[in-house]
Amino acid sequence: MVAKGYMGKILRVDLSRRKVIIEDTEEEQAKKYIGGSGLGAKILFEETSVETNPLGSENLLIFAVGLLTGTRVFSSDRSEVIAKSPATGIYCEANCGGHWGEKFKRCGYDALVIQGKAEVPVYLSIDEDQVEIKDASHLWGKDTFEAAKILKEERSESAQVAAIGQAGENLVKFAAIMTDGEHGRAAGRGGLGAVMGSKKLKAIVVNGKRKVDIAQEEKFNNLLRKIVPTMKTDPQALAQFGTSAGLVLCENIGDLPIKNWYQGKWEQGAGKICGPTMAKTILAGRYACGRCVIGCA
Ligand code: SF4
Repeated sequence: MVAKGYMGKILRVDLSRRKVIIEDTEEEQAKKYIGGSGLGAKILFEETSVETNPLGSENLLIFAVGLLTGTRVFSSDRSEVIAKSPATGIYCEANCGGHWGEKFKRCGYDALVIQGKAEVPVYLSIDEDQVEIKDASHLWGKDTFEAAKILKEERSESAQVAAIGQAGENLVKFAAIMTDGEHGRAAGRGGLGAVMGSKKLKAIVVNGKRKVDIAQEEKFNNLLRKIVPTMKTDPQALAQFGTSAGLVLCENIGDLPIKNWYQGKWEQGAGKICGPTMAKTILAGRYACGRCVIGCA
């Protein structure tokens, strides 16, 4: 029996053999490799090698969530995507906001390990114990906004969708995996969208409603009551101006990724695209990832 906070199961889907396997999350594994990133790194390390081609069927594409995902802890509904990266050829982890992580974990799993490669475009539907590999020929070629909209109509409006667009399908080495439809939260690092595309996997639809068990629930809730007010007031700049709130400050210290880090300074431009400027000129609304009291998007 694995510690509370974990769901105790790892879902494996072999797209080549169209096979679904459910394994236990081992107690030792959970203690030693904490959270989604720990679990994902361990699985990738053990099951791939230096020879593994990032875009070959032998690469794994792992989605994993942490202990707090699906609980009431603020900003906890994020998820990790882990694979060998086609951009760097080595280990890659991309962290994604949004609501997908919560819906996935509440299906009853700590991680999803995708292996092999489908022959034709498919999507994966996970509704707790019901896991199906479905035809995605009608979605191939569509962008992530449209694909998510169609899939929600087809499966359930309460479902969440992680999908790739045309970049992932065409194996662009910086393609992202996107969640939350037109609110667009991204697992954007390392071209993991291309890994998904190489497996001909267009999307993963999740719709879990299970509860995440918590040890010492009363203590946990009391602690949350203490912390949440501070979280609402302290990161004011992030709430008002998004991640770009600190852009000018970064520019001041030469820390802007201009031309892929060939340069770090852009005196004449930084002020024109920073958070406060965008808030004055193009801000149309705000969006928050699951359980987040900041809402930087
Ligand atoms: S809305 Fe912003 S602050 Fe909140 S979890 Fe998402 S990325 Fe983080």
